[in-house]
Amino acid sequence: MPPEKPQWRELFSEVVTSGLCTGCAGCVVACPYDVLGYDATSGVYRPFHVAEEGGPTDCTHGQRGCTLCTRACPRFRSWESEIDTFLFGRARAEGEDFGVAEEVLLARATDPSLHAAGQDGGLVSAMLVYALENDVIDAALVSRTPADGPAWKAEPAVARNREDVLKTAGSRYTYSANTLAYAEAIEDGAERLALVGMSCQASVPAVMAARKAGKVARRFALTIGLLCSKTFDDPLFPELLADRYAIAGEDITKINIKGVLQIWTRDGGYHEVPLKEAHAWTRPGCLACPDFAAEHADVSTGGIGAFADWTLTIVRTARGRDLLAGMRTAGVVETRSIEEDPGALALLGRLSRVSRRRWPESADPAPRRLAVHGVPSP
Ligand SMILES: Cc1cc2nc3c(=O)[nH]c(=O)nc-3n(C[C@H](O)[C@H](O)[C@H](O)COP(=O)(O)OP(=O)(O)OC[C@H]3O[C@@H](n4cnc5c(N)ncnc54)[C@H](O)[C@@H]3O)c2cc1C
Ligand code: SF4
Ligand code: SF4
Repeated sequence: MPPEKPQWRELFSEVVTSGLCTGCAGCVVACPYDVLGYDATSGVYRPFHVAEEGGPTDCTHGQRGCTLCTRACPRFRSWESEIDTFLFGRARAEGEDFGVAEEVLLARATDPSLHAAGQDGGLVSAMLVYALENDVIDAALVSRTPADGPAWKAEPAVARNREDVLKTAGSRYTYSANTLAYAEAIEDGAERLALVGMSCQASVPAVMAARKAGKVARRFALTIGLLCSKTFDDPLFPELLADRYAIAGEDITKINIKGVLQIWTRDGGYHEVPLKEAHAWTRPGCLACPDFAAEHADVSTGGIGAFADWTLTIVRTARGRDLLAGMRTAGVVETRSIEEDPGALALLGRLSRVSRRRWPESADPAPRRLAVHGVPSP
């Protein structure tokens, strides 16, 4: 039998329509023939194949041997163990529920404007500014609020300098496939890119590199992951926040999730909405996602723990370690030991195990295995 060459046909049936697809758009940016589109309308966030070259379920280029979409998909078959082995040189050990990590610490930007603009400690923004200004990257794929849209809405964007980074800082809790900013970034000549994205997107550069997905893979020079348990569909804002809590979408200036939905409004107001009330608006692409901790990023970042204006930081790779070491030497970041906040580490483990239970038993067993055999919840 000839070796199998899985293409869009297999991706469509095994990931896109099986409930595993997160909408990360890795397949879309990897496709060299531009036959994959992306539906970013609320509640969809999925790739589709154009009608002309094989229709929705098959691909004429795939029939001729192209496999790039399956090689770029961080949910296709044994993605997790393949990427772990590629990135860390070994399979994940029992108990490593939030992925393989070199170090966990707390960090924040020393620059007051980056710190103030950031969601937590402004570390992500500080990393981007440092990488842009020290010849590590040419551009970063991030998210922004649309020019004519409300502050809660997110869409992909390119940051090329400090001003762009400041404008795009902070967290928005609707989905933005930042990978889709790739075309705009390289159009302007950028060759070395940083990708900022939630866990699902943070596995894209690594899976592309592990499965040798070509030029696109080689352009990702830095991956910064955002810890994530879910994103929300747009109707959360009119249906829950406006109708039930009288918080108009256009008045929202900032949202955070700290056990509850925290909402700040233009008039200086602060509101809390129980998280369980928002569950019904969870984006379908998140329902089977097993990765809370952005397990394949160079550096993963989150806001859990006792210190609200610090970023919980997981350093995973040599690239991440070198970047933070350079930033420490330059004095652009300050850090403190995670031992000052043991509760944050325990919560990181617990939330990671909760997410891993969402991965369906019918799919590759690795992402669930840790949920079943991992150390018990604290
Ligand atoms: C949807 C979402 C869910 C999250 N859930 C959790 C959680 O459950 N627990 C937890 O500890 N942390 C969570 N985080 C991470 C947390 O909110 C912070 O992003 C992280 O701590 C980094 O903070 P910072 O101040 O260093 O980042 P900043 O300096 O503020 O930089 C944040 C970066 O994230 C990008 N970004 C913002 N919103 C989006 C979006 N919707 N899609 C893609 N990129 C975006 C920005 O463009 C910016 O580059 C989540 C983040 C997001 C976006
Ligand atoms: S998970 Fe990402 S790469 Fe895989 S099919 Fe969905 S959008 Fe494409
Ligand atoms: S839970 Fe977060 S990381 Fe997982 S699919 Fe949803 S947005 Fe992506």
